[in-house]
Amino acid sequence: MDLIVRNAVLVTPSEIFKADLGVSGGKIRAIASHLTDSAPEIIEGEGMFLLPGAIDVHTHFHLPFGDTFSADDFYSGSVAAACGGVTSFIDFATQGPGQTVAEAIASRREEADGQAVIDYSFHAGITQANRETLREIPDLVRDGFPSLKLFTAYPNLRVTDAFLLEVLEEAKRGGALVGVHAENGDWIEALRERFVLGGRTAPIYHYLSRPGFVESEAVARVVRMAKALEAPLYVFHLASGEGLDAVAAARAEGFPVMAETCPHYLLLTAEKYKQPDGERFILSPALKEEADRARLWRGLACGEIDVVATDHCPFLLKEKKGPFHLVPNGIGGVETLLPLLYSEGVAKKRITMNRLVEVLSYQPARIFGLEGKGSLMPGKDADFVLLDPRVEGRIEASKQHSRCDHSPYEGWPLDGKIHLTVSRGKVVARDGEFLGRKGNGRFLPRKRSR
Ligand SMILES: [Zn+2]
Repeated sequence: MDLIVRNAVLVTPSEIFKADLGVSGGKIRAIASHLTDSAPEIIEGEGMFLLPGAIDVHTHFHLPFGDTFSADDFYSGSVAAACGGVTSFIDFATQGPGQTVAEAIASRREEADGQAVIDYSFHAGITQANRETLREIPDLVRDGFPSLKLFTAYPNLRVTDAFLLEVLEEAKRGGALVGVHAENGDWIEALRERFVLGGRTAPIYHYLSRPGFVESEAVARVVRMAKALEAPLYVFHLASGEGLDAVAAARAEGFPVMAETCPHYLLLTAEKYKQPDGERFILSPALKEEADRARLWRGLACGEIDVVATDHCPFLLKEKKGPFHLVPNGIGGVETLLPLLYSEGVAKKRITMNRLVEVLSYQPARIFGLEGKGSLMPGKDADFVLLDPRVEGRIEASKQHSRCDHSPYEGWPLDGKIHLTVSRGKVVARDGEFLGRKGNGRFLPRKRSR
């Protein structure tokens, strides 16, 4: 063995047990109550949880917005991820005007390859509603991109329902999963225009132009479309309780509708927009109400929500200012995903340790076809985290590795601490210190099982 972790408490979606875990050649080789092998590196895990590394299936590194970019590029973003216990991420390669999806992927790979410090892939972002795009879908599946993202909002990104139906049909035929950013674009634009023309541009009008019904209407509509075609569907960053009701109802009927939510929808509400610096919390879908937050936690605990991911897309403080409709959308979170979900979820007894592993590792790998990832099993990549539940801490942006200069969770108290992050058998972070290397992340072609 190259590395052995002794006496840690291993967590899988169904079990919790104390064991030794042995690694060689970047893979998990053995799990046993006592491994007699020797190894040059022995890590004592007594008193700690050993979890599969988190897989953040929703990041936006180096995302253009107006005349700026999100604060983290693929290097700084992946360093932040690694220090927070994330061992793989899926970002987006979104078509620009006149671009094919293949061209969008090639240009995103140029930005990520040689930079990312942990393994990564891309969802194919479809914005160009034409025959050529539809014809690309089988090739995307073949080339390892079996997940698509479409938008029902944003004037420059959204597609019509008619085109979405065609994509759902083509994706079902080709074995791809369609994921949707579901908000009613027409309503948002009408409400925004009304507020902006009336001079109502304080941050709260961001929320008032994207309230819960704007999301739940679009979620319910898209779910109906997927049901009609019996096509699988993934709802990105679900924020509203009513949206979750629509997803849960379809699931109860046996339809393969899957949902993701994000830590900020579980932990923050639209009250934040009333703060003097409320612009900092402008993101879409907007933060919702206390009742939505409570509904999302219930859905997470009972299995109606499959995945928690971050939508990590922070902008610098100096950019998060001005009238609500001009503030770049997005907040950070890749470094605090696992710490927050452990502290607020497991330590506060809202979800079990098994559920934590399920929504951060096992389901992301299964749904998006990351074959070697997401499980503690011999033969899988040795991507794991040691979490020490005995250490308390506090979130401070100044101590994080993201290039962003603020955190939506500044000062937030944490139970538990990420002690160690291991990526393909190598320690890449220890107690908040990055120990990996630029470019050590590998591109992951993906394959969804039908
Ligand atoms: Zn996003």
